Amino acid sequence: KNGVVIVGAGHAGVQAAASLRDEGYDGPLTLISDEGELPYHKPPLSKTFIKDSEARPQILRAESFYAGARIDLRFATRVERIDPVAQRLELAGGGALSFDAAILATGSRPRLLPLSGALLAGVLSLRSIEDARRIRALSAEVEDVVVLGGGFIGLEIAATLSLGGRRVTVVEAQDRLLGRAVAPSISVHVRRRLEESGIRILTQTTIERLEGADGHVEAAITSAGERIAARMVIVGVGVVPNTELAQSAGLEIGNGIRVDGRMQTSVPGILAIGDNANYRHWFSGGDVRLESVQNATDQAKLAARTILGHQDDYRSVPWFWSDIGDMKLQMVGLSQGSDRTVIVGDVADNKFSIFHYEGSRLICIESVNRPADHMLGRKMLGAGFSPDAETVLAGTDALKAALA
Ligand code: FAD
Repeated sequence: KNGVVIVGAGHAGVQAAASLRDEGYDGPLTLISDEGELPYHKPPLSKTFIKDSEARPQILRAESFYAGARIDLRFATRVERIDPVAQRLELAGGGALSFDAAILATGSRPRLLPLSGALLAGVLSLRSIEDARRIRALSAEVEDVVVLGGGFIGLEIAATLSLGGRRVTVVEAQDRLLGRAVAPSISVHVRRRLEESGIRILTQTTIERLEGADGHVEAAITSAGERIAARMVIVGVGVVPNTELAQSAGLEIGNGIRVDGRMQTSVPGILAIGDNANYRHWFSGGDVRLESVQNATDQAKLAARTILGHQDDYRSVPWFWSDIGDMKLQMVGLSQGSDRTVIVGDVADNKFSIFHYEGSRLICIESVNRPADHMLGRKMLGAGFSPDAETVLAGTDALKAALA
């Protein structure tokens, strides 16, 4: 018996290993990480780690957990190829592992920009703890930072470094921040608050090229011809799923590795979960690839059950959070298809929520510093309950009462 091999020890891979044991799997279990240290939480990297010289990685599980659960965690080991017929993984530098079932939890990586000057020292992106250490070390030495991309990670980094005393400019190609992710009124709010906190924000602007001296970045030149001084440039323009292994095995690929409602790829015995998985979401009916801790965790739990022969389909409610300066953004549901919104709370007070409806169905709640709405939202969407606008406007207690 060769057992289960999990490729990638991020949020998805570690949860899958834990869930296999929780669900009663007793056979050999190998968890392969191409990183050099204990698996850790990614969200704090952009929110706190990079500005705190004392911060240490927050590990997902204590070291003793892996041995205790008989999980063979292999560090600094990269899987290079999968032979789906022989059910074998080939490791970089030689060696191979046979499997009865394999879970691809390889995550995603920052999208690179084909930009002149992109290879200069000081041009960085953030995905791993190693990346975060590089950003932290350099930011201690520089004053001016340009962040390319006004998405969640770019804005979190911008706010964190700005709080840490850096002069930060965010450059976003679209006409608003978080354009792919949130309602326009949230974009407006986030922009205003970040600007008030001293961050400069340029929208509908791209970077033409980066200029350097002695191999180190010195400035970013915008499409409008402005030269912005920057000894550090952070590229935060989204991620691409790590699908190469799956491709080498001939698995069906879309926007990520195609999986069904039980996380099974097109090849029997191989599953995919987390940032790299592309699937039809029960909630919206559309094809998605979600990049969130919730998605990674819940898919991992389900993949473990699938391997153990259970037949339940993925039914988790999607949710996400992001801390940008003094704004805790929380989203539950998916807003695609929204045709009506109800706003509660006080925008000026930095506390409000937007309830999105498609017809009479509540499909998404976006909250800024209103965690109670978010938590209720998870319950409501999980139960398929859609409150009417009156109830929403009556406030949290009315919602609670309606849900009870
Ligand atoms: P990952 O966590 O990326 O893990 C994949 C692992 O597989 C990596 O260690 C990778 O090195 C390894 N790997 C890849 N290929 C191979 C190979 N061939 N062989 C061996 N190992 C391999 N989500 C939220 O919900 N809220 C947040 O606030 C939030 N903040 C974030 C902040 C930052 C800075 C980042 C980078 C992400 C954030 N996310 C957040 C997203 C969240 O972290 C991801 O959705 C989650 O990590 C996905 O888990 P995963 O296991 O699929 O991928």
